[in-house]
Order: sequence, then structure tokens, then C-alpha cells
Amino acid sequence: MNVSKILCVARNYADHAKEMGTAVPTEPIFFLKPTTALLPTGGTILLPPQSKRVEVETELAVILGTGGREVPVDKAMTLVGGYSVFFDITARDLQAKAREDGSPWTAAKGFDTFAPMSEPIPPEHVSDPHALGIRLKVNGIVRQDSNTRQMIFRIPQLIEAASQIMTLEVGDVIATGTPAGVWPIVPGDRLEADIARVGTLRCTVAARNR
Ligand code: MG
Repeated sequence: MNVSKILCVARNYADHAKEMGTAVPTEPIFFLKPTTALLPTGGTILLPPQSKRVEVETELAVILGTGGREVPVDKAMTLVGGYSVFFDITARDLQAKAREDGSPWTAAKGFDTFAPMSEPIPPEHVSDPHALGIRLKVNGIVRQDSNTRQMIFRIPQLIEAASQIMTLEVGDVIATGTPAGVWPIVPGDRLEADIARVGTLRCTVAARNR
């Protein structure tokens, strides 16, 4: 699969905004991850030496089968070419510092292996992407357990808003945000996330050698 960009949505579940101590946004907040952060399912997330606290966020990812710009909300779903389970891996300490300094999140979100993604499934397999159970287990213990119906901005609104900023291309990934329960990860952890109908994403965790 040729991914040209990974567009992530911040604070798209109210319970997660609350656990972060941040306000619920009134319009979608986007940030980018580099495609060099992609990791296939079964891969190992590498914890960088620059961070003391890395967390996992489980998200429904939309993969675009068609591009577009200024896509109206009622046409937006025609761009969807597939769905995946996605981990928005985050160096939380670096993000907190960036927030404090008013700096971008590029480092906190952009390390290699910080974008694990399951094999996409075709959109026909998912009749309603806004009614899917989403669950994360770390070492067999459930840490996130929610439903995509809790999203603040739904997929058509996200596509419309994103396409007013930048041209969307075939293969672009939109990670739709995480519910509450984001969890710190350490070397040796086994992560397993399920989204109903979409699939399972499994990763292990190791320290990155300098
Ligand atoms: Mg996220």
C-alpha cells in the first residue's frame, strides 16, 4: 500500500479530552505523522531514548481510495477505500513539553514505528463505521474499551474539514482519534487492539538502541 500522508485527529473523543485535561474542540484539530512511522501488524514499536513516557492510543483509521479537495460532507464517504486498526503512538512527555512551549508535536508523534496499522479491509465490510466496538489490551488486560459512536467529529466531517486544508490523495490515512484509557508502554509489552469488523492489530514493544 502506498501511503502518501497520515493525518491524525486530536481529541476526537470527549472522554479522552477530559483525561488529558483539555477542552473538547469545536472544530477538528489535525496533525501529521510521517509515513516513515508506519509499522505493519506484528511489528515492534521502538521506544526512543529521547522519551521517558510513551503511550498507546487505539484509533480507527480510514484509508482513502479516492482523493479530492473541498469535498462536501455528503460526498465524503465515497472517498473511503478501507479501514484499519491504528495505533497513534505518542511520546507523552515530549508532547506535554511541546504543549507548554507552544511548539509543534512533530517529535512526540513522529518517531519511526509510531504508526502501526493493521491490513486494511474494504469499506463494504463495515456498514456503519460509527458503531464499532474499539478495544485495547496490554499484556492481556483491557485498557481501552469504547465505541466509535463516541467520536465528536464523524468521518464525513473529518474528510470535509481536512480537504479544505490540503488535497487528499489515494492512500492517505486518516486516524480518527482515540477514546479514553491511553496507556504507557514499556519494553516487553504485548499490545492487541480490536475494532469490530475491521480487525486486530498486534505489536510488541522494545527499547530503541542508540
Ligand atoms: Mg491520537
